[in-house]
Amino acid sequence: PKDPRPFKRAILKLSGEALRGPGSRDNIAPEIVDRIALEIREAVQGGLQLGIVVGGGNFWRGASASARGMDRATADYVGMLATVMNALALEGALEHHGVSCVVQSAIEMKNVAETFIRRKAEKQLDEGKVVIFGAGTGNPFFSTDTTAALRASEMGADVILKATQVDGVYDSDPRKNPDAKRYDTVTFQQCLSQRLNVMDATAFSLCMDNDVPIVVFDLAPHGNLSHALRGQPIGTLVHG
Ligand code: UDP
Repeated sequence: PKDPRPFKRAILKLSGEALRGPGSRDNIAPEIVDRIALEIREAVQGGLQLGIVVGGGNFWRGASASARGMDRATADYVGMLATVMNALALEGALEHHGVSCVVQSAIEMKNVAETFIRRKAEKQLDEGKVVIFGAGTGNPFFSTDTTAALRASEMGADVILKATQVDGVYDSDPRKNPDAKRYDTVTFQQCLSQRLNVMDATAFSLCMDNDVPIVVFDLAPHGNLSHALRGQPIGTLVHG
């Protein structure tokens, strides 16, 4: 199997819930965001080119609002705006720690963020700036996992680092089956044939088609993010 580690350019996918932190009632917990920013600073100082795609599930999910009667497209636009709030919080924390960064929003929002332009984002990554991609793809009916797959493909990233609440990909649900086995590495094909859930189908097929490997890891334990960013073996590597 092709192992992309160590990476030169990576896309980190942070779910919105990751910014809330366990047990916190605030949508965004500043101390969690601060901890994430510090781990990112270390990796970027080590020379990693980093783009971040942040979700919005700590505020809103389009699909759940739509299941409760709201028009899906409208609900999704609300969700995309939620991701921009998270992007700004992250930008603030990174800036506070002296990390040069920028938010590029897929929906124009001139007063708070740059508007996404692929070539500009690529230049910023080359210059060592952390680029935070806000507002998802800018289109309803997509997810921020799909955004990560899209940005990773168009930025030519070596990998997507998917920070989650489980420590990798298992052969069955570890919350239901105590004998569930975690994979160190698994292929896209294996995921398909064994119906292993790594990302939603759109995001997964984009990664597979464009040969973008994914590292699935648990964000909660301190230091895990640093390990993942440095390309040390952690979680599960999903590859072609
Ligand atoms: N969203 C969207 N298009 C995109 C990305 C996101 O419409 O390209 C909306 C969608 O409603 C989604 C919400 O934004 O539920 C928040 O994103 P996501 O659920 O992916 O966030 P996460 O679960 O990672 O926190």
